[in-house]
Amino acid sequence: MQELTLQMSADARAVSYIAGIDTRRVVPDAAAIDALAKFDEHLPEIGCDPHETLRILDEVGSPATVASNGPRYFGFVVGAALPVAAAVERLMLAWDQGAPLAVTSPVSAAVEEIASRWLLEILDLPRGSAIGFGTSASSSALICLAAARRSLLVRAGWDVDRAGTNGAPRIKAVVSDKTHITVLKALRILGLGTDDITSVPTDQFGRIIVDRVPPLDALTILCLQAGEVNTGEFDSFSELVAQGRKASAWVHIDGAFGLWARATRGHKSLTEGVEDADSWVVDGHKWLNTPYDCAMAICRDPQSLAAAMNSDAAYAAGTASAQKNLTLDFSRRPRGIPVWAALRSLGRSGVDDLVSRHIAQAALIAESLKAAGYTVLNRVVLNQVLARCETDQKTRAVVKAAQDSGTVWFGSTTWEGQAAFRISVSSWRTSDDDIAQLCRLMGRLIERFDPAGLVLGT
Ligand SMILES: *Cc1c(COP(=O)(O)O)cnc(C)c1O
Repeated sequence: MQELTLQMSADARAVSYIAGIDTRRVVPDAAAIDALAKFDEHLPEIGCDPHETLRILDEVGSPATVASNGPRYFGFVVGAALPVAAAVERLMLAWDQGAPLAVTSPVSAAVEEIASRWLLEILDLPRGSAIGFGTSASSSALICLAAARRSLLVRAGWDVDRAGTNGAPRIKAVVSDKTHITVLKALRILGLGTDDITSVPTDQFGRIIVDRVPPLDALTILCLQAGEVNTGEFDSFSELVAQGRKASAWVHIDGAFGLWARATRGHKSLTEGVEDADSWVVDGHKWLNTPYDCAMAICRDPQSLAAAMNSDAAYAAGTASAQKNLTLDFSRRPRGIPVWAALRSLGRSGVDDLVSRHIAQAALIAESLKAAGYTVLNRVVLNQVLARCETDQKTRAVVKAAQDSGTVWFGSTTWEGQAAFRISVSSWRTSDDDIAQLCRLMGRLIERFDPAGLVLGT
């Protein structure tokens, strides 16, 4: 009974948080941040009341959240949480399934298998590929690149499972100079140093310059990008993937958010040729708007992935498609279930509408920023807008004022040595009214500051 009233209280608090999400400050005010000191208690000797614990988390914690689940958070590329995906997660919490193997959770294995099939269909990737449902694009990159390294070594005749990587043929990586830091992190964890990595220069749009790619070979992992974090641009897959395949290199694609362009009719061509790669990473928790943590490691050759991630033991043998043999984790939540729920409730057309709407909204923002006098630095092919004012000081002042307004949030970056800001549209909640509100604010702010970043007329 105690358990049920506690769960109902949590649900009521969660519902009330969601009910106010449109109007709450996008980032907490100073008072809410200061109040976090209330968490600074001694570790209790005797346990506290659960209701009281929930109460303090809500009353002190909720005001200090960032409303990234709201409609006007334009920072990073975070997405919000689709109601259906959040709802199934609540049921999953009650189930508390550990899902390494079908035997530990038949329902998880069955639903994750369907989610895999649907993902390959909607992303139009090779239908025989394996998918590991992991925590993030970071861990999924590690998973795919571990499979890549192992496969290249095995193909080179090196028994890596016995002999390890000491003394093995040298594996190299070729990446874009705009590669996401998490891909470099994965390579570093796998033992590739900067001497083993060639960073290829990019053009004005942020795409690898094809002519500058060094010769590839059968010991090279070529890492390409679908959706650069600043510009949203795509590498030239048709040429580069073909080049990689011809050289028997392993081609890996970081499509953390950008790969979803492939689920649209209007923007799929941005990803042309990507289907010929060997592995792909795509997040659920960004553009598909599932809750955290949710991402997919996709590998053309299921055996490569299953061999690299195998964790079979006498007491826990699994098949090649058991999720524990496709991801880093053994005990794990069935992260494919919210993906299944999102795809089932949106359908093909709903995913297309969501992604296409965000791309159209980004174009609207870019037009409005230009009209107001900002310089838009990218082509806006996707959901990212990269812009600046005439000076670094003014750019920073505008970003800070926008953030302080509490009505929107987006972050700053550096682009070609200059201060810039990036606005990214990825929440299912973002309506055209929210875009209009952002544009009006940006129109006012560019008038407020002088080139030195000082408020005019003071
Ligand atoms: C966000 C992002 C990542 C890292 O994804 P996580 O899920 O946060 O680990 C990798 N690559 C790109 C292009 C991203 O935008």
